Amino acid sequence: MQRRSSRPPCGAHTRRGTPCQGGKIPGRKRCKWHGGLSTGPRTEAGKRKSLQNLVQFRTANPGAAARGDQPEEGCC
Ligand SMILES: [Zn+2]
Repeated sequence: MQRRSSRPPCGAHTRRGTPCQGGKIPGRKRCKWHGGLSTGPRTEAGKRKSLQNLVQFRTANPGAAARGDQPEEGCC
């Protein structure tokens, strides 16, 4: 059974903890609401800030990696 989208599911979790109903952007790993349209940080300062946020997120959410919620690897 398909819902509103025929694309493969995004796989991210919403703030309620339920799986996202959005469809992936073709060629990307997430829907448009979960970074599928993002090209990532472009400046050096942006990349540093992004990395800081990642470290902060993993420190605050030690169980996130086990749920597969970690940001994508190899973005920069
Ligand atoms: Zn999504």
